[in-house]
Amino acid sequence: MLHQYINSAMFHVKHRHARIIRAMSKPIKSFNIEGVQDLVSEAGLPSFRAMQILTWLYAKGADSYSEMSNLPKAMRDQLEEAYPLSTPEIVMVNESRDGTRKYLIKFDDGATTEMVALPSDDRLTVCASSQSGCAMKCSFCATGQLGLTRNLLPGEIVDQISMIQKDLGRRVTNVVVMGQGEPFANFENVVAALRILNHPKLLNIGARHITVSTCGVIRGIESFSKIDEQFTLAVSLHAARQEVRDKLMPKLTGQRLDTLKHALSKYSNLTGRRFSFEYSLMKGLNDSDEDLQALIDYCAGLLCHVNLIPLNEIPGSRISPVAPKVMNHWAETLERNHVAVSIRKSRGSDIAAACGQLALQQSK
Ligand code: SAH
Repeated sequence: MLHQYINSAMFHVKHRHARIIRAMSKPIKSFNIEGVQDLVSEAGLPSFRAMQILTWLYAKGADSYSEMSNLPKAMRDQLEEAYPLSTPEIVMVNESRDGTRKYLIKFDDGATTEMVALPSDDRLTVCASSQSGCAMKCSFCATGQLGLTRNLLPGEIVDQISMIQKDLGRRVTNVVVMGQGEPFANFENVVAALRILNHPKLLNIGARHITVSTCGVIRGIESFSKIDEQFTLAVSLHAARQEVRDKLMPKLTGQRLDTLKHALSKYSNLTGRRFSFEYSLMKGLNDSDEDLQALIDYCAGLLCHVNLIPLNEIPGSRISPVAPKVMNHWAETLERNHVAVSIRKSRGSDIAAACGQLALQQSK
């Protein structure tokens, strides 16, 4: 009788314990570097275990704890229970004639996102996503049509780089956070991911080789200027006239261009760093001489560089790119007016490599 009672009590305790662990369980990919260090110390483990776990997760791209052969089995089981580990599944890969590879990936909750590998002889650049979908609804952007599903966790952002390293068997040298999503709407997770990418013992990608592109979230720009690492900032401008920008980027209506300029000027003053403006020329929308003059005036006094981007056409959209001669005219005029400028080479247009295009194709 007593024996039975003890057994049943033990069952309840064990059961409750498992329930508590499950209720408290949190995906390992949600932690930043310090978070992993904290959970290791809270579990009473020696501190070197944190870097071992992080190395398995991100430098080696481990798919499960069972691969982590230098961790004791009991520790792996404990981690498995408290901090579930899952890796995304590749749903689709498109390879372009120019070697660009675009991936659509799915997380364990069904949320999807995209990433692009842009290999060349001397570097391998990854265009990574910060969210699944995007809430910004920019009129020329395919991701905008999808709407926002959710923010990506730090590890889910890093996974995109680890997966490409594994897939192509070479080191990723550059990262641009220019895929799906608005990175500064997911600021903490994005910065946590960048620090994992940058860490010398993890992916060891130089801070200057990591660029974050924002549609112009002012609070994000302010916070980004307070970060020690020399990550690079890019801002999607696309129009230097208020009424034009309000139309192209409707979620930013109400944000004054002069407020943005003020924030960017402060950014350069604080960091001493140059940032770039992305400007995609769209026929009849933002390509007039008046637009060009507005851009020249806007850049005056800013430590900036203008990147003119060929528009990637979205099927079904009425927005079309300008002729190359218009692009050249803009580049020459900007240069003559002492604005640093370059024309971004378009890659992967035959595989719908532009932001959100693959997911949009899939959802249709
Ligand atoms: N939300 C961030 C980052 C993601 S978009 C931002 O707005 O910057 C990355 C870049 O691709 C942005 O400059 C965006 O304006 C641009 N872009 C989106 N759709 C495009 C298209 N169809 N053709 C060319 N560039 C596009």
